[in-house]
Parts: sequence; C-alpha cells; structure tokens
Amino acid sequence: MQVLSGKEVSSFVKDRVKGQVLKLKEQGLQPGLAVVIIGDDPASHVYVNSKVKTCEELGIYSIKEQLPSETSQEEVLKVVRELNNNPKIHGILVQSPPPKHIDERTIIETISPEKDVDCFHPQNVGNMLIGDEDGFVPCTPAGVIEILKYYQLKTAGKHAVVLGRSNIVGKPMVALLARRGDYADCTVTICHSRTQNLEEITKQADVLIAAIGKPEFVTADMVKDGAVVVDVGINRIDAPEKKRGFRLVGDVAYEEVASKASAITPVPGGVGPMTIAMLMQNTITACCQQNNTEIPEG
Ligand code: NDP
Repeated sequence: MQVLSGKEVSSFVKDRVKGQVLKLKEQGLQPGLAVVIIGDDPASHVYVNSKVKTCEELGIYSIKEQLPSETSQEEVLKVVRELNNNPKIHGILVQSPPPKHIDERTIIETISPEKDVDCFHPQNVGNMLIGDEDGFVPCTPAGVIEILKYYQLKTAGKHAVVLGRSNIVGKPMVALLARRGDYADCTVTICHSRTQNLEEITKQADVLIAAIGKPEFVTADMVKDGAVVVDVGINRIDAPEKKRGFRLVGDVAYEEVASKASAITPVPGGVGPMTIAMLMQNTITACCQQNNTEIPEG
C-alpha cells in the first residue's frame, strides 16, 4: 500500500512555481494575488493567512483585503472592481463563505474571469467543461489530479467514483476525471446524499474520491481491494486529549481502508496542502495569460 503524500507533491508544485516566478522576473514580471476576506471566521483567517504566507515564500506579490463582517455587498463589489483594474494583481479570490448578507454568486461573477484563480466564474467553469487545457482548473480537484500524476497512477479506462457534488469539489472533480488524458479518461460515477445503494457503487471504484464532509464515512467494506482512495474531507472531531481539543480526520476511515487500498491519501497531509499549491500555480497561469507570455517550465 502506497501513502500518497500531498505534503510531498505540494512541495514539488511549489518548487516548480518558485522556479517559474524567477523566470518571469527575468522578463520583468511578478505574479500578484489578492485575497479578500470578509468577517472574522477563524478558520477562514487561517486559510487566508496561509495563502498570503505561501505567496511570500514563492516570491508572489500579494494583497490581503480584510473587510469587517458588516461590509455591504456594494462595498465588497467596489473592492473587487478595483482589484480587477489593478495591473499588479493577476489573481483574485474572495474567501468562502462570506457573511450571510453577501451574495457569493454576484461576487464571483464580478471577478474578472482572467483573474478568477479559484476557477469559480461561470465562464471558467464552462471552459473547463469544454476541456480547455490552457484555462484555470479549480484548485482542490486539480490538486487531486496532480497527486495522481506525481505518483504515476494512470486512470485511463478506470471506473472513478466521486462522493459529493459540490461546485467546488465534486462536480469539477467529475469534469477533470472525464477529460481526455492518462490521468483522466475515467468512466465516472457521481454520488450524493440521495444515492441509493451507495456501498454497491463505491465497491466498483478503481479510483474512489471522497468529498462529503462526513468524518470517517467510507469504511473498508465500501472499498474494492486494490482501489486508489483519495480523501478530500477535512473534518474536526473532538479529541479532549489534544491541547486544542480536536483532531482532523478525513471522510475515509483511514486505517481500515488503507489495509484494502493500493494507494491512499492521509488526512492531514493529503489533498489539503495541494489546494494552496494549485492556487499558486493558477496565479502563474493568470500572470502569463495577462501578459501574453508562455508559462515557463520552472
Ligand atoms: P459540501 O457540504 O458542499 O458537499 C458535500 C457533498 O456530499 C454534497 O454533494 C452532499 O450531497 C454529499 N453528501 C453528504 N452526505 C452524504 C452521504 N451520506 N452520502 C453521499 N453523499 C453525501 O462539501 P464540500 O464539497 O465543500 O467539501 C467536502 C469535504 O471536503 C469537506 O470535509 C471539506 O472540509 C473538504 N474540503 C477540503 C478541501 C481541501 O483543500 N482539501 C477544499 C474543499 C473542501 P447533496 O448534494 O445531496 O447534499
């Protein structure tokens, strides 16, 4: 059984991005990312801070726009429009979820599609579905594909089962796995909370991707011998023995499933670190596209 270390793959991707930043510097370019956060949700602040910190590590210019939770929708849109017009910024993301009075869809549609490094704008989602290889790819599902590539786990012709149909993970995951290519070309089944006989379906998966947000939901009896299992879930469960009072687990019961799988991602240290790495990669893509220059090899 092979442990698929997202920590290792994300370091590989970040090293590549670092190299690309240096090559772009020779052309007088510096990629720039703006992260907008509204309100004071602690988890969102942790994510945003680590995005900004990763930019610093890789030589990407960054702006953090921190807005109080009572900021009006119109004010948020104004900030986004200013960033759309800021030539030093090539990528913009608004940390999800925003406070309830903000309509996330309107915010996403206001981000200029060329700067939409999360790949949430309908235009970019459409391009991804059409199979545009040069466009943005949504960070978490792109991170899953990057792990498969790094470990040379070719999926062409295999049956992939995706658990979860969210717009940020499940649905784009299906789109990427159904594209052409050695690390795609899957026969894909998508499951959700209304799927019947779930276990019968998951047991047919050569590649099983879990993204449902239910701690340790996928047990050994749901998994085929030798399957490749990718756990996107990040769930907090009580752990009074820990100083912080909780620990992180995935959507997969790791120990028991690992004994059946041929390869599996751990939580933490699996898909989690890939999301930021792919965001950095999308920022390079954005910078190159906006400056009509080839993406350097890195
Ligand atoms: P959502 O809550 O948006 O979606 C969950 C999906 O799972 C829904 O489609 C839901 O079905 C489905 N589902 C829920 N319960 C079941 C069930 N019992 N059987 C089958 N399907 C079920 O979650 P996200 O996609 O945003 O996130 C999923 C997980 O991935 C979370 O743990 C999240 O923390 C993690 N995550 C990790 C990231 C990373 O960087 N590694 C990034 C993003 C998310 P229905 O549509 O019918 O309600």
